[in-house]
Amino acid sequence: MKVDFLIVGAGFTGLTLAERLSNELDASCLVVERRGHLGGNAYDEYDAHGVLVHAYGPHYFRSDQPAVVDYLSRFTGWRPANYQVLSWTRSRYWRFPINLNTFEQLVGRTATEEEFQAYLARVREPVDAPRNSEDVIVSQVGRELYELFFKGYTEKQWRRSPAELDASVCGRIPVRTNRDDRYLRERFQAMPDQGYTALFRRMLAGCRRTMVLLNADYREVRAGVECGQVIYSGAIDEYFGYRAGVLPYRSLRFEAEHFTAEQLAGRESVSGRPGFWQPVVQVNYPNDFDFTRIVEAKHVTGQRCSGTTIVREFPQDYAPGGEAYYPVPNAAARRQYEAYAELAAREPDTLFAGRLATYRYLNMDEVVAQALALAARIKAGWADRRRRVA
Ligand code: FAD
Ligand code: UDP
Repeated sequence: MKVDFLIVGAGFTGLTLAERLSNELDASCLVVERRGHLGGNAYDEYDAHGVLVHAYGPHYFRSDQPAVVDYLSRFTGWRPANYQVLSWTRSRYWRFPINLNTFEQLVGRTATEEEFQAYLARVREPVDAPRNSEDVIVSQVGRELYELFFKGYTEKQWRRSPAELDASVCGRIPVRTNRDDRYLRERFQAMPDQGYTALFRRMLAGCRRTMVLLNADYREVRAGVECGQVIYSGAIDEYFGYRAGVLPYRSLRFEAEHFTAEQLAGRESVSGRPGFWQPVVQVNYPNDFDFTRIVEAKHVTGQRCSGTTIVREFPQDYAPGGEAYYPVPNAAARRQYEAYAELAAREPDTLFAGRLATYRYLNMDEVVAQALALAARIKAGWADRRRRVA
């Protein structure tokens, strides 16, 4: 088989590139995906009970990049989303991320924003520039709130102390002194109105000269394909046969549980609507149990059905052959990755893109932005390349 681009992975990265390259350059693309479905980790599906669930953990679309939102809007409408999260510790729900309501729960009475600010001024441990995830939280809210909400969760999730992780990890979570308790900061927060898998199907339907092979591993397919360039969005250490060592990742195990309408009697969401197991889409468990969070996607998919499905998320150690969900954001891991970045830069006719191939803790909109930028770079060199090949 002969194609212009052999694209490894049918996630946001691979499908954005296939769509752009096939339509903008009229290039032929073959996408190989070793899972049995499109969408990578953003894949969603209807479970055996007919409830739409996120198969690989909660995926909350958010972005501050209008160009990315405009691009994806060609393939989906949007449903405004209220990503509300609570934290469960000391046998009760806490308002989260930390805001004035959380402070009121801590002191056990109503309070003003000024009182909360005065409390923070007293307990925070200022640092000039937070060097790690402990610094970034303790310098904003002090030790008590750090230990209540961040220390245990982070140790469970990463099997490392927050002091061993970049400030950007816990720094993802906003701290506010008003009552704004949205989990995310970005201006655009919405879910694809028909779900992610529908979005991916429409992306693919919009590709011109593109074929997708599911259940196909790149290593098995490679020898049979003649191609101009490979675009690889899998794990970079795996691509190079781990020759510079296995990079650190965190993995996950998901456990789903379904409840019928009868089993849900008496429970309700914060919106007052019946048919839900927990009050909001996500509850974090920093200090109890082996799981970090329980997600009930029905709160944000907007699906109308009488039953519901919740998913518990258990952090796991990673070993080759398992699923690498999170690259580890710290200096030691980045140094290990550098060896692969050097190999990648020298690899002929192969480009690396996406969360695992560039070993970065990227959100969906960020990998789409990265893929659009790469497609533009390829386009800029395309005429030249065609001439050389001819
Ligand atoms: P992936 O989605 O990982 O796709 C890569 C694909 O390549 C995979 O399908 C894999 O099977 C395939 N592949 C790998 N190696 C091979 C091979 N050798 N042969 C064939 N195929 C191969 N982002 C947000 O914006 N909001 C969120 O709320 C959010 N929540 C998340 C929660 C979890 C638990 C996780 C793990 C991630 C979350 N993300 C979230 C991040 C989001 O999943 C990623 O940014 C995005 O899916 C990355 O897309 P990608 O195409 O780069 O990689
Ligand atoms: N975090 C925490 N307590 C929480 C929520 C998050 O300590 O209740 C920390 C933890 O280290 C986590 C990071 O903040 O990995 C980022 O959280 P987010 O919910 O954004 O993680 P993701 O959805 O990417 O797994």
